[in-house]
Amino acid sequence: MIVIKTTKELQNYLNGQKRDGKTIGFVPTMGALHEGHLSLIKKSMAETDITVCSIFVNPTQFNNISDLEKYPIKSAEDFKLLAQQNCTVLFMPSVLEMYPNGPIKNKEDYGNITKVFEGEKRPGHFDGVITVVSLFLEIIKPNKTFFGQKDYQQCLVVKNLISKKFPEISLFIEPTLRNENGLALSSRNAHLLKNELTEAEAVSKALFSIKLNWGLNTIEQLVENARNIINEKKSLKIEYLNICNLNDLSVLSGNSSSYNEAVVLTAVFCGEVRLIDNLIVYK
Ligand code: AMP
Repeated sequence: MIVIKTTKELQNYLNGQKRDGKTIGFVPTMGALHEGHLSLIKKSMAETDITVCSIFVNPTQFNNISDLEKYPIKSAEDFKLLAQQNCTVLFMPSVLEMYPNGPIKNKEDYGNITKVFEGEKRPGHFDGVITVVSLFLEIIKPNKTFFGQKDYQQCLVVKNLISKKFPEISLFIEPTLRNENGLALSSRNAHLLKNELTEAEAVSKALFSIKLNWGLNTIEQLVENARNIINEKKSLKIEYLNICNLNDLSVLSGNSSSYNEAVVLTAVFCGEVRLIDNLIVYK
């Protein structure tokens, strides 16, 4: 695996590979890698000749400075995991390399999907995501890029960005990897205490309860039941839990049997740690 820290060096390398007819896959991450990230690397390795994984803790997508400062950095472990997967390139730019004029975010209008849920609770978050993903896609110009459904709203935003500005790039959205008890893998889980880790499993249990009863109850009953499962745990506090339209994230109501499919979106504080999860439910 080659480690590259500058845009110029990365482009020189990739231009040579592209001239040789090689296809490029791109997996953006913020590091502290786990099996969920590695599933994206594996998919990219299977789909393309050259896989570029970026590790960059993007300051413009954090609305809360302490969240940014607390973000886990595990460079040595990350290097080892990527090398074991035979990832071709690890791109680790500095903040100055990505933002030579300072960490400024572009503001573009992607409508409601950037304003609700994560967009509402983390103002400016999606401006930062759109800015950094655009920068990476312009630098790397991959054939394919790989994102996790774990960040469902982010996937929708990136899907819109790609269809508007990078229609030549194929977007792959990969399933969420979970631990044996259903908890979605996340770099933030490293901050959970042992009892919090156990209690956090109620989040996915709540989501799966909706999937199990889809079509049998009203949306309001399904949401209430799911909320009760989470609220039973002392360390959990729901920020939002809604059942939404898959494409525009409008909140659904009424009989669940009248909808063929939907997505359940949730953010839950577990102690100090903010967890997000989602599940697509269907008839
Ligand atoms: P992050 O490092 O949190 O920015 O995540 C980098 C990529 O990994 C994003 O596309 C995430 O959606 C994806 N990802 C994070 N957690 C998981 C998971 N548990 N399963 C699959 N993909 C994930």
